[in-house]
Amino acid sequence: MKHSAFRQPLMLSALCLAMLAHTAPSLAVTDQEILNDGKTTDQIVTNGLGLEGQRYSPLATLNTDNIKQLRPVWALSFGGEKQRGQQAQPLVKDGVMYVTASYSRVFAVDARTGRELWQYDARLPDDIRPCCDVINRGVALYGDLVIFGTLDAKLVALNKDTGKVVWRKNVADHKAGYSITAAPLVVNGRLITGVSGGEFGVVGKIEAYDPKNGDLLWSRPTVEGHMGYVYKDGKAVENGISGGEAGKTWPGDLWKTGGAAPWLGGYYDAETNLLFFGTGNPAPWNSHLRPGDNLFSSSRLALNPEDGSIKWHFQTTPHDGWDFDGVNELISFNYQEGGKTIKAAASADRNGFFYVLDRTNGKFIRGFPFVDKITWAKGLDKNGRPIYDDSNRPGSPSAQEKGKSVFSAPAFLGAKNWMPMAYSQDTGLFYVPSNEWGMDIWNEDIAYKKGAAYLGAGFTIKPLNEEYIGVLRAIDPKTGKEVWRHTNYAPLWGGVLTTKGNLVFTGTPEGFLQAFNAKTGEKVWEFQTGSGVLGSPVTWEMDGEQYVSVLSGWGGAVPLWGGEVAKRVKDYNQGGMLWTFKLPKELVGQK
Ligand code: CA
Repeated sequence: MKHSAFRQPLMLSALCLAMLAHTAPSLAVTDQEILNDGKTTDQIVTNGLGLEGQRYSPLATLNTDNIKQLRPVWALSFGGEKQRGQQAQPLVKDGVMYVTASYSRVFAVDARTGRELWQYDARLPDDIRPCCDVINRGVALYGDLVIFGTLDAKLVALNKDTGKVVWRKNVADHKAGYSITAAPLVVNGRLITGVSGGEFGVVGKIEAYDPKNGDLLWSRPTVEGHMGYVYKDGKAVENGISGGEAGKTWPGDLWKTGGAAPWLGGYYDAETNLLFFGTGNPAPWNSHLRPGDNLFSSSRLALNPEDGSIKWHFQTTPHDGWDFDGVNELISFNYQEGGKTIKAAASADRNGFFYVLDRTNGKFIRGFPFVDKITWAKGLDKNGRPIYDDSNRPGSPSAQEKGKSVFSAPAFLGAKNWMPMAYSQDTGLFYVPSNEWGMDIWNEDIAYKKGAAYLGAGFTIKPLNEEYIGVLRAIDPKTGKEVWRHTNYAPLWGGVLTTKGNLVFTGTPEGFLQAFNAKTGEKVWEFQTGSGVLGSPVTWEMDGEQYVSVLSGWGGAVPLWGGEVAKRVKDYNQGGMLWTFKLPKELVGQK
């Protein structure tokens, strides 16, 4: 661990002065503050700007009239020789920003000046197995703790003022392929995390811990057939909670290595008291080895936060054969129809379809394509189940020969991947970062071996258009209509933020943080950050001024897995910067 504030005495005294001048001691984060985060504007204590994950800010000081006056106030380098993808969302509490960086690092930063307060570097073993770059997506705050997951599948809780480790807990065996990259969330005193590792044949699971000391409270495996358990005093309570019948939707013993990793974490809706998590691909990718729906892979799950029991599930890609992980965020929102309030939730899936569900019971309300080309399915039936085009499923291999190769759109990196969309309470639109690409995909013979890649497939990703891959889309969830689009040469890989100021923010691999008019899609502002923007932007208010922050640092899955698309972006430079902008008070009225 490195405490940069103590590198030299001069810096320390400057820091003390700065803190005396501006920063009252930061207070402990409470359950109530977390539950209210979507409504408060002076702090950000959840991933998603509210547990529902809408990424909507009620701030309107900064708006389409004055955004040209938005300017950088500071930038902090994450330093080091190791850079790679920076995909986190910053949190802000009492003038201190908490953010993660690549290689399982955490930074606490004075939000007014950009001065680093402390830095924590997890000591990672040499044999970590991240599938898709050494990224991390952010921390949770609770009490006096800053809590995050590491690439060797541990949860680490740090003191928010010193960065010192308070507790550390092993969630899963990294040698079997497990890791953690998602931000955990805290719901009513329970710290909840998923795990990554679907490409290694792990068994996905969602777990709750006591945030105060790291004690396990419940564990919910996400492959049908595995029992879940509630824990008391370190021991599993005798009667487990069923996760369905073993082998029912899986042949033979394949459920024992079935993947379905909930690697992107989850969100929570207080109205229904449900946790919403998505699950990844069934393992291995070669679908001919596992006839059946392979529950609960490529699904959205609604869980009881008290014991982890599954209240409902909705499977987007039953019997997935394309790595269409169903992990993408399921965002709670209400809308009016026929004089009634519909408690809905929406998700834009890797497979190219946008789903609107009844979040009280998981029933399908409607679904529609949100990208221009889908080849693997002909559409959705009345229950939202895909109507397969069997000729477009990659063929069955033999021991000697690979199976028939097919061209599939979207590519396995998804019509939309991890990068979170945003929902505007003003326009009623979702702002979806999407990509237009396809892939040649074929199957190969494969057997499970602990800790080894378990795909049984090969692939080459290709762009569908010369001019662009990325498309930021404004989508009406009531009609399926695309209200506007903005195309981008490189694939989009960063999160989206929308505000009451009629603004939509997102970043590009080319290095720009951009803002759009939420109603029209007109680009109204951009700033070159020096490296690709894959982070999720945030906005908050401090000393009566509106701030915007985002991480810059190119990397992630595209350069590693992108085939012909990776060639297109091969000259983009890596980085590692935390940028902060503000609209100065005196410029609020200026255009
Ligand atoms: Ca996957």
